[in-house]
Amino acid sequence: MKSNKELRFDVVVIGGGPGGQKAAVQASKAGKRVLLIDRESAVGGECVHRGTIPSKTLRQCGLNYMHWTQNFVDRAAGERCELAMATLLRRQSAVTQAHERYMSRQMERNRIVIWRGHASFTAPHELEVKAVDGSRRHVAADVVVIATGSRPRTPPNVPVDHENILDSDSILSLAYLPKSLIVLGAGVIACEFASVFAALGVRVTLVDKGERPLAFLDSELTTRFVAEFGKLGGEFLGRRSIAKVEFDGVSQVELTLENGEVLRADKVLCALGRVAQVNGLGLDKAGLAVNPRGTLDVDEHCSTSVPGIYAVGDVIGPPALAATSMEQGRRAVRHALGLPPLSVSSTTPVGIYTIPEMSSVGMTEAEVTARCGSAFVGRAKFAELARGHINGDEGGLLKLVCDPSGRKLLGAQILGDGATELIHVAQMAIATGQDIDVFIDNVFNFPTFAEAYLVAALDVLEQRQQLAKAA
Ligand SMILES: Cc1cc2nc3c(=O)[nH]c(=O)nc-3n(C[C@H](O)[C@H](O)[C@H](O)COP(=O)(O)OP(=O)(O)OC[C@H]3O[C@@H](n4cnc5c(N)ncnc54)[C@H](O)[C@@H]3O)c2cc1C
Repeated sequence: MKSNKELRFDVVVIGGGPGGQKAAVQASKAGKRVLLIDRESAVGGECVHRGTIPSKTLRQCGLNYMHWTQNFVDRAAGERCELAMATLLRRQSAVTQAHERYMSRQMERNRIVIWRGHASFTAPHELEVKAVDGSRRHVAADVVVIATGSRPRTPPNVPVDHENILDSDSILSLAYLPKSLIVLGAGVIACEFASVFAALGVRVTLVDKGERPLAFLDSELTTRFVAEFGKLGGEFLGRRSIAKVEFDGVSQVELTLENGEVLRADKVLCALGRVAQVNGLGLDKAGLAVNPRGTLDVDEHCSTSVPGIYAVGDVIGPPALAATSMEQGRRAVRHALGLPPLSVSSTTPVGIYTIPEMSSVGMTEAEVTARCGSAFVGRAKFAELARGHINGDEGGLLKLVCDPSGRKLLGAQILGDGATELIHVAQMAIATGQDIDVFIDNVFNFPTFAEAYLVAALDVLEQRQQLAKAA
């Protein structure tokens, strides 16, 4: 029996992460009555509370600490600079709260009604929302957007206890910095945490079944990443499968690999992927079911198989990023309300906040070669840039990938300081169909990392000229 009168909204959004928020704001801007439901006490979703924002704050602290100790602490002379986890957590919480406040104000400004509680379908367009005090409310809407996100995947042979064997949620609230850490997995989250903890002075071992980390990236970048990780004291162990993970009951976690090797560390981080968050959502009542990958299938408008029900963000699977979730939220609502679609370029960059950071847009050298038979590649090493010397980043690299004529820019890959910002220059050049010469015909600030575009383009020009001479 329903405990109160059912309310009606035009649009109900389940989940207050980036996808849900942007869906709600878009609907409100179109003049609709919008309800946003989230079981957390504050808006922001995993992104703000356990994902992007806290992990990037931790990374910034790691980076600052690393630069400080490299430049100003003379370890050889016995100087020390210790960092307490409490200091990092304080910073993390200050940044998260600031972001939360900004987002709450955005919801208020857009007159979005927020209910705290767990939502579950009772019928395709009807939901029950159960609050922490056990009270229940019911709501109906013509449009429902599912933006419930994802949670860490825990394989059965990794007994995550959040104390010694952690996942990407619990590692963000460690009471102290461990001396050693084993990271299971070599995807984005695994590599980000591995390099950040290494920069914070922790002895990190990254273990994965793949031959190299981040296998979807250009191999020149990942080779450099492994080398830079090594300089931070980290070690990558590839082609290793996990047999067993156990806490020894005293102070160490023991990882047994299928090849018989045994590794020990103070803590283990399990970063072996994420699964869509659909627990208790009552999908069957809505006439929906997850696919074999555990995610919700949608069409190009983010519409599910049930008319009026949309799904956006991590719950629909890759790329599972904050920026793409936001765009999907807007796209879904615009379609639901019959608004013209936004024309969004398909040239989407990938940013990986490891230390050093990496970023990629468009095609890689291997992809262009496979598609066109050959590729022109221009390289700029940060060791050859004044800014690289000033920043102490001499391992960085920018690669420009062109078509076989050496003119049309088709992709770019960057490793090093500012890579995730710099990539947008290449993104704009690709999106607007620029030739590589645009970087030669323009003046760059000096000293900057952006100057790498000029250096890499000149590298392509030189190769073009040599080829013309030889012909
Ligand atoms: C450690 C880490 C680092 C990351 N770093 C980056 C990065 O640098 N850049 C980037 O772009 N992306 C990053 N991501 C990914 C990014 O955080 C996600 O892609 C993004 O948060 C997905 O947004 P979303 O809208 O799908 O939902 P989420 O942010 O996952 O939020 C979903 C919300 O729905 C709520 N919810 C779930 N079920 C219910 C229910 N039944 N009823 C009510 N509420 C419910 C949840 O409590 C949650 O608040 C990172 C993720 C992690 C874990």
